[in-house]
Amino acid sequence: MKDLSEDITHKLMELKIKFLNQLPERRKEVEKKWEQLRGLSMDSQELSYLRMLIHRLAGTGSSFSCFGLSDYARNAVALIDRFLYDKQTPTEEALEVMDDYITRMFEEIEEPLEECPEESESEKTLTLPDKKNLAFYVHRYEKLAEDFQKQLGFYGYNVRIYSSLEDARASMDTFSRILIIESDIIKEHPDYGERLLNLKSSYSNMKYIFIAEDDGFDIRLQCVRSGGDDFFLLPLDVSRLIDRINSITAKENTEPYHILIVDDDPEQVSYFALILQQAGMITSVASDPKRVIHILIEAKPELILMDMYMKECNGSELAAIIRQQEAFVGIPIVYLSFETDKEKQMAAIRRGGDDFLTKPIKSEHLISAVSTRAERTRNLRFFMERDSLTGLLNHTNLKEQLNREIMRAERTGSELCFAMIDLDHFKMVNDSYGHITGDRVLKSLSRMLLERLRRTDIIGRYGGEEFGVILLNTDEGNAFIVMDQIRKNFAQIHHQSGNQSFHVTLSCGIASFPASKDSSQLTTLADRGLYQAKEQGRNRVISVEAPET
Ligand code: GH3
Ligand code: MG
Ligand code: MG
Repeated sequence: MKDLSEDITHKLMELKIKFLNQLPERRKEVEKKWEQLRGLSMDSQELSYLRMLIHRLAGTGSSFSCFGLSDYARNAVALIDRFLYDKQTPTEEALEVMDDYITRMFEEIEEPLEECPEESESEKTLTLPDKKNLAFYVHRYEKLAEDFQKQLGFYGYNVRIYSSLEDARASMDTFSRILIIESDIIKEHPDYGERLLNLKSSYSNMKYIFIAEDDGFDIRLQCVRSGGDDFFLLPLDVSRLIDRINSITAKENTEPYHILIVDDDPEQVSYFALILQQAGMITSVASDPKRVIHILIEAKPELILMDMYMKECNGSELAAIIRQQEAFVGIPIVYLSFETDKEKQMAAIRRGGDDFLTKPIKSEHLISAVSTRAERTRNLRFFMERDSLTGLLNHTNLKEQLNREIMRAERTGSELCFAMIDLDHFKMVNDSYGHITGDRVLKSLSRMLLERLRRTDIIGRYGGEEFGVILLNTDEGNAFIVMDQIRKNFAQIHHQSGNQSFHVTLSCGIASFPASKDSSQLTTLADRGLYQAKEQGRNRVISVEAPET
């Protein structure tokens, strides 16, 4: 999660200025409405409208630290609630109190600013080195480093080899944050441990992975003392190393959380969207409650941030509607409202909300409340939708995604391809090296698919040693090139079982849409391609065209 930077301060300031500049207009509207109501009998519909106007001012006012405004507005709302509840003509005294609230609401406003302070130079975003870049600080095993460079290259990683610590250090600013180090160096030159540790203290983001020929407590301890984040024994299991690199870099590289904000007040929406976006999240907005279900299906947000009072229907009613649909039973709904009445809050939660945040809320609190819950949704979804060995989509979800993507491609007139992969003679791998090694081979293929395909492509484990890949916006020719490259690279990976090293190949069938008319034909044809690849000797990719109709 990014810190709230100067950037957000600047943007918040802009929003605040906009708000302050609009205040005279809104003041007129409130005063006019109140004047009408005060003169006539209290029409409850009109009164509710006034309530909404003031309620918004209370909410936005508190967000922008206009506490005078928001306090008086809050009192005014409470008084209007009493008028609405009593259904009697208010006393002259009550009306005067209301006059007073409305006058004072606008009294303590700061002068609107003319301009925003200029954005400072220091706000330029820092780019982190790419997680696919690795630096190898070689001491003795040059040949090993080169082999390692090649093996990691199959997974799409770039490895630069350095033979001096100074050179390796120079890459830290721009190229890589992960340094792989032969442990021999600290064994032979004890002062290097100190130097590595010093280097790390000036680059807090930097990670060290030590590799060693022999295991032992002493060498592990020396590595830890030199700032080591992990320790690998040779021969190196590259796919496990990549898992490790990914978990080390995972924090900065996870997909942003997707939050749906439901609120019919555009100012509130921009304010909260801005805060969440600055914390690295993606926001969708539904100002019309009727669109919420549609957005839930299309965008699959991980949390709904819901306003309590909207014109069309209130938040808890909308929550009840969402909860009626099985697919959305699990999505967290967090109300964000000015409502401080605990009874009302509990009632709203009973109807399907998960929590209640009251305005004004500090940005940090909002971000933390939203991100912890979104994280939970993501974890739950992960277990429900994924295969436990590889972390890829399971069969059911891959098929669901295929249907979804075909619908999308139909709508947007785009192409896609479906590829089915099956490992060759995999039974023999299990028989020769054991099931656990077999599992590691499956993981290495899933790792390669994840690293080599685009982020937008969809990868699943179809079953056993079969995988399915949906390549979006890709025609058959390009799908073939990509899959064939993966096939070639996969065949070159050294899989490790004890001291034995072996290779595994794969076969693949491809079919494309819209040439195939639906998902059923697409999978049948991809499967046919796979069958032909096996028949023709394995270790090949075959695409099958749909017959002309
Ligand atoms: P072919 O080239 O014709 O595909 O031969 P094959 O041996 O790969 O095909 P077959 O369908 O005869 O065998 C598939 C093997 O995959 C059998 C099964 O034990 C193994 N397998 C399936 N799922 C897993 C798994 O999760 N882990 C391991 N280690 N092996 C698995
Ligand atoms: Mg097989
Ligand atoms: Mg099979």
